[in-house]
Amino acid sequence: MKPDLFEAPDYYNLDELLSEEHKLVRDAAREWVKRDVSPIIEEAAQKAEFPKSIIGGLAEIGAFGPYIPEEYGGAGLDQISYGLIMQEIERGDSGVRSTASVQSSLVMYPIWKYGNEEQRQKYLPKLASGEWIGSFGLTEPDHGSNPGGMTTNFKDMGDHYLLNGAKMWISNAPFCQIAVVWAKDENGRIHGLIVERGMEGFSTPETHNKWSLRASATGELIFDNVKVPKENLLPNKSGLGAPLGCLDSARFGIAWGAIGAAMDCYDTALRYSKERIQFGKPIGQFQLQQKKLAEMITEITKAQLLAWRLGVMRENGTATSAQISMAKRNNVDMAINIAREARQMLGGMGITGEYSIMRHSMNLESVITYEGTHDIHLLITGLDVTGLNAFK
Ligand SMILES: Cc1cc2nc3c(=O)[nH]c(=O)nc-3n(C[C@H](O)[C@H](O)[C@H](O)COP(=O)(O)OP(=O)(O)OC[C@H]3O[C@@H](n4cnc5c(N)ncnc54)[C@H](O)[C@@H]3O)c2cc1C
Repeated sequence: MKPDLFEAPDYYNLDELLSEEHKLVRDAAREWVKRDVSPIIEEAAQKAEFPKSIIGGLAEIGAFGPYIPEEYGGAGLDQISYGLIMQEIERGDSGVRSTASVQSSLVMYPIWKYGNEEQRQKYLPKLASGEWIGSFGLTEPDHGSNPGGMTTNFKDMGDHYLLNGAKMWISNAPFCQIAVVWAKDENGRIHGLIVERGMEGFSTPETHNKWSLRASATGELIFDNVKVPKENLLPNKSGLGAPLGCLDSARFGIAWGAIGAAMDCYDTALRYSKERIQFGKPIGQFQLQQKKLAEMITEITKAQLLAWRLGVMRENGTATSAQISMAKRNNVDMAINIAREARQMLGGMGITGEYSIMRHSMNLESVITYEGTHDIHLLITGLDVTGLNAFK
């Protein structure tokens, strides 16, 4: 892979909207990605392996629980810092950002928000340091966009719960130490349970042959009469709103992360357009190539503004789930379109691992699907503005 010469575009001087702390956090993550992710990520993706060697670095830049209070080992940062960290990590690779997102928003967040003090003390510091990696089990083979239909269930056996069912498409599953699993009780009410590796009847087979997010491990969570101690139930929130609250946090991170992938594709294509000579000129001098670059920087700038404003609203607690959906949908769509255009600008070189664009392009196919598909987020906006439910 070529050396990482990334220079971040900031066409509207958005740095002026950031505090000194935001910039410090962002720059530390940016440097780390350049030093520790870029040199190894192409090989990891080609081999379809999550690079475990970077777990310590992710913890050091605050990517595991950026906004979780410091007393639990988190970085105690605000929402814009969280977004900026996700942006920088996804600039390197969406799969690495997925691992950090799941750990922070889908595992640490529910334990922090819905767990009790013993659960927070037991799990959060180990997750923040990267000693333990977690996964989040919501999706099932027959219930993806409609998680409320889940069939994974548990029964109260007096001194423990008995968990049965299966989850599919679970990031981090093959090597997670714990899983936050969403399952129905005997009354059909959804609860979160912390399942630990080693519990009898719990297995996590890996999903192979992915063409997307190859540097992120995906798998199943299978529960065959797993005895879950009663103290592992998250006591402070139940119902579908509990996992959806986690998804709000993760989708917010994706809205920022997608900007990172788009910036990397744009920056690569811009540099290439000045170096690649055809018909005696740099290709960047042809109007058709300039159109692509001009549209890319326009879309990136709009996405940056959307994410920044959402960050302000998320920080002051006013962002709605529908507003988060809009940003996730818009920014991932923006990134996938930029990746496609940028790949074309590199001609044949664009399909090779010498450059990051094809990897981003393939990764974004998962990002546009998980945490609510592109169409599902459109329906959420449609419902929000009309008050009419087009889901069913
Ligand atoms: C790499 C990867 C990692 C993932 N990681 C996790 C994870 O860590 N944890 C987890 O729980 N899940 C995870 N997922 C699952 C992901 O969230 C689901 O794939 C996603 O929610 C879509 O579900 P599905 O694949 O079952 O598609 P389906 O729900 O079957 O949808 C198929 C198509 O139908 C459309 N559709 C569905 N319902 C409607 C409707 N009412 N109206 C119009 N169109 C509709 C969808 O938009 C989509 O285009 C991951 C997925 C991938 C690919």
